[in-house]
Amino acid sequence: MEKAVEFIINSYLSSPYKRKLDYLDNFLFSLLFRKENLLLRNPGSKSAKEIEGFLGKYYDYRDMIYKRMIKLNPGRENKLIEDIYLPPDRLVFLLTHNCQLRCKYCRVRKFTASMDRDVLFKGIDLLLTSNADELQVQFFGGEPLLKYGLLKKAVEYTNKARLNNKKSVSFLLTSNGIELTKEKVDFFRKHNFTVEFSIDGEIKNQLSSRKSPNGINYYAKMLSNFNYLKKSRLPYYSISVFMPENVSNMFESFLSLVNSGFERLQINYALGVFWDKKASHMLFNQTRKVIDFVRKNKNIEFINLSSMRKEPVVLNAELTLDCDGGIYLESGICLEEDFAAMKDKFKVSSIKTAKNINLLSTSDFRNFYNLSRVYGRVSPLFRKIIVNNIKLGSEYGKLLEYEQGRGSRSEKED
Ligand code: SF4
Repeated sequence: MEKAVEFIINSYLSSPYKRKLDYLDNFLFSLLFRKENLLLRNPGSKSAKEIEGFLGKYYDYRDMIYKRMIKLNPGRENKLIEDIYLPPDRLVFLLTHNCQLRCKYCRVRKFTASMDRDVLFKGIDLLLTSNADELQVQFFGGEPLLKYGLLKKAVEYTNKARLNNKKSVSFLLTSNGIELTKEKVDFFRKHNFTVEFSIDGEIKNQLSSRKSPNGINYYAKMLSNFNYLKKSRLPYYSISVFMPENVSNMFESFLSLVNSGFERLQINYALGVFWDKKASHMLFNQTRKVIDFVRKNKNIEFINLSSMRKEPVVLNAELTLDCDGGIYLESGICLEEDFAAMKDKFKVSSIKTAKNINLLSTSDFRNFYNLSRVYGRVSPLFRKIIVNNIKLGSEYGKLLEYEQGRGSRSEKED
């Protein structure tokens, strides 16, 4: 194993093609996957322990390569960073941990903390150091609209800061819609926003999965707020989450959202829960029904079929700036409710010290490695769930790819 990895690294040092690093990432990823499966079958597996030691050595292989190359090319830091690291194009801002709802599948811990202005502005400056040309500020929570004043400050600051920078910056708001108003929608339209509207379908499904802690029926208010979006020319889409126990309602819920006026829709399967064969088949069957429907109704877009969604989703660890100024891989935040004590293991930097966001870049291998190192060790059940979510995501990705291909083939025939 070591010889193979050193061979790829040396080959990159002598002729630095980015694809060699992708290849290395895939190689390390497949070893890690093997190790996790070995541990699932036999927690004391010697081979797994050997692979674990080996992977620990190469976890930071991009840093390792950078350090070796900088010695040979002093003064070329920026070019080397651009070549070696994958530039993050988005920073997720957790404006608050507060939320009016307690969705069944939400793993973000709820408390009243919110981000202070200094942290927020430094986060924007940090994002602007990215080597990617198109950047995105994502407002997330908790419910970010509970901190609308802060959100407006962020937009104002970004617009000023990017004047000195040639990057294009867009904004993404993930919201439950309860605090949405016409004035807010007008503001979002002026400032290049896209809105992810979290809604699970008709009233019964919504109120049972996205519960209000005081039992308030917020459904009518939320749908009437949705009308502001519908009337605007703002890009938006619905985002719905299904658990194994309600995935059989997926297609029905999808139709109810279409009937409520949504034309772009995204569906997520819940992460951090085990999907057995029956539930996975149901997810696939319901998804096929959605795709058939979308094929017959050209005005409806199923976002999962676009390149915006990358499977397996459990490995998409976005860089997330938390209220406390810590920069985390998203997985740490999204599973915080279950493993608050583990969150620090996903901390990659702090806004006080981070200077260059490119150096915080991550990859499928690193995300999987972190998940396995943190949760896999605490609980065998969690190891099982992580491996399960990766397998489910890969199969789901293949289904979507196949359907995309089928769609474009039939369009050509038409
Ligand atoms: S999923 Fe969103 S709306 Fe639901 S509890 Fe979590 S933060 Fe609140």
